Formats: sequence, C-alpha cells, structure tokens
Amino acid sequence: MTYVTAVIDSNAFKHNLLQVRKAAPKSNVLAMVKADAYGHGFRHLTGVLDEADALGVARLEEALRLKKYGVTSQIVIMGGITTAEELMVASQHEFAIVVHNAERLQMIQHETLENKLSVWLKIDTGMHRLGVMPEEVNDFVQVLKASGNVKNPIGLMSHFAKADDRNSPYTDNQILSFAECVQPLEGPKSLANSAAILAWPDSHEDWVRPGIMLYGVSPFAEETGLDYNLKPVMTLQSSIIAIRQLHQGDAIGYGSTWTCPKDMIVGVVAMGYGDGYPRHIAAGTPVLVNQQQASILGRVSMDMLTIDLSQQSHAAVGDEVILWGKGLPIEHIARSANTIAYELLCQVTARATKVKA
Ligand SMILES: *Cc1c(COP(=O)(O)O)cnc(C)c1O
Repeated sequence: MTYVTAVIDSNAFKHNLLQVRKAAPKSNVLAMVKADAYGHGFRHLTGVLDEADALGVARLEEALRLKKYGVTSQIVIMGGITTAEELMVASQHEFAIVVHNAERLQMIQHETLENKLSVWLKIDTGMHRLGVMPEEVNDFVQVLKASGNVKNPIGLMSHFAKADDRNSPYTDNQILSFAECVQPLEGPKSLANSAAILAWPDSHEDWVRPGIMLYGVSPFAEETGLDYNLKPVMTLQSSIIAIRQLHQGDAIGYGSTWTCPKDMIVGVVAMGYGDGYPRHIAAGTPVLVNQQQASILGRVSMDMLTIDLSQQSHAAVGDEVILWGKGLPIEHIARSANTIAYELLCQVTARATKVKA
C-alpha cells in the first residue's frame, strides 16, 4: 500500500518553462527555486533545472545544496548574505548575489574576494521589503564599480508588490519608477514574477523571474494553471485505508464536528496535517477517488481524513486518492484552506515521500 506520496513531474516543469518563454519571448529566464523548488525538491527536478538560464534561491545554504545536484546554470542568491564569510563562500562558488542595503555594499567594498562577484542591485520601487531607494541607486552603482570586486555589468532589479491585481495602478507605478531610475544605467534589468509575466508585458525586460507558474500554478487567485496551459508539477496522493458504513446521526472525528445526515459510506484516507494537508480545510473540499470527486467530512487529523463515498459504492481499501495536482487544481484546495497554493506546496512534510513521476 502506498501512503502519502508527492509525485513530481519534471516534464510538467519543462512544459511550464516553455509557457514562460512563450509569454516573454525576448527575456532570459531566472527560474525561482527557493524553498527547495517551492517544496517540490531539487532532487526530483534535476535535469530540467538547467533548462532555465539561471536559478534563483533565497539563501546561501540553498545555493550550496542546489550546486550539489550538479546544476551548471548561474545561481542567484536573492536575500541572505549577511556576513563577510558568506560573501567569501558566494565568491568562491561564483554565485551571483543581490545587493540591497548599505551594509552589504560596505562588505563588498572592504573584503578581498577570490573571484569578482556577479551582482544584482535591488531597487525598492514599492514593495518596501528589501532594496535601495531609487535616489540611492547611482551612488550604489559607483561604489560597486569602484570596489574592484564586482563584474561588469551590474544587474538592476526590483520586485512587484501586487502584480496579481490586474486593475491596480500600483504595478504601473513601480514599472515607471524603475524605468526612471535605471534609464541612465547599463546592465541587465529584471522585474517580472509570474503574475507580471502573464499580466504586465511591459515589465518583461532582459530577465523574467517566474516562480509559481513553473510549478503549474496560477498566480491569480480566481484562476488555475489550466487557464494558462500550465501543468501541475506536484500531485499529492495517498490511499483509502478503511471504509465504514455509518448511520444517520453518527459523528465523525475529533470534536464530533460533523454528523452524518443520513446513512453513509465513509472512506478513511491516510493523509493528515502531519503530511502537510491543511487542518483548517473547509468541509466539503473535494478529493479525487478513481478520478471521481468525493468530499471531505469532519476535521482533518494528523494522519487521517475522512471522505464521503456514498456516491462511490465500488471504492475499495487501497484505492488511490488525489488531494491536489493532476485533475484537481491546487488553487481550489488553497481557497478552501483560506491560503495560497504557494503555502500548501511548501508545507508538504518530510513524511510525504516525494517520487519522480
Ligand atoms: C519568489 C520570487 C519571485 C517569483 O515569484 P512568483 O510569484 O512565484 O512567480 C520573483 N522574484 C523574487 C525576488 C522572488 O523572491
């Protein structure tokens, strides 16, 4: 019997990367693979990661792990270089780094490095998380160039706060603010995340930075990856471990929160919050049993959840159950759990065995 498995389809990743290239035909692709490729596991995507032009991670430790899997593409560390030691390691491994504050600028100025660094300068055009303000950009570029530690040209990047809102002028303002401040500078430019790749073609520039769409998921709350010809990379599945005949009035699960309105056939599925399935999922959320939808009943517990099999009298112990992925868009599950697909993907725990499709 197979218990919880996250099946990772690297061909779907490849297909989705192609959709990125179609949507942004003039741009290079910096594929965002932070958090172990949005929870999919570098290990299961080896072979297709190098199809991107470069790979983006959040922290040095992730870059080092990624390199162990033999990727040859340039690796860009978006956030976490905070000590001189980390800077040295990044330089040794020829990782590209992002400069977003004065502390890091000074570090680059003062260290003696093994190799010149590839640098992206991050400009804060409205996200107000990391980045230097537009009026500081020129000074930063001058100091970086004078440091002797940095390769030419210096990349220029910014990040959108709400590109998934097609009706907001905020993204247009960020595009404009970026354009004004980088206009006198040379060097590759990069703005677009998945939502901007699909909704804001004016932002594509030299490098796009897709994340979620590479995993087959729509960045827009009201749509699914299918609407953009994307294919789910992860299918989370398990199996039925028991089937019960329950009677009208029987309560199911912890807290007895759900009571059978009639006599019912109930399936118990080996999947719980200990595997990363959200405990706060709304009752009625669908799963797929033998390609047919069945609804979740009662509370999700650590190792199990229960489903209504009344319409599926042929279902048997051992039958496969799909929780999201092929045939069941994760976007719908995320909405039922009052969260986003990004979080569900990252939340799958180590108990769920990941396997290549
Ligand atoms: C994660 C990330 C992205 C990708 O965002 P998606 O919404 O997943 O496409 C792009 N740029 C930066 C800086 C990021 O951290």
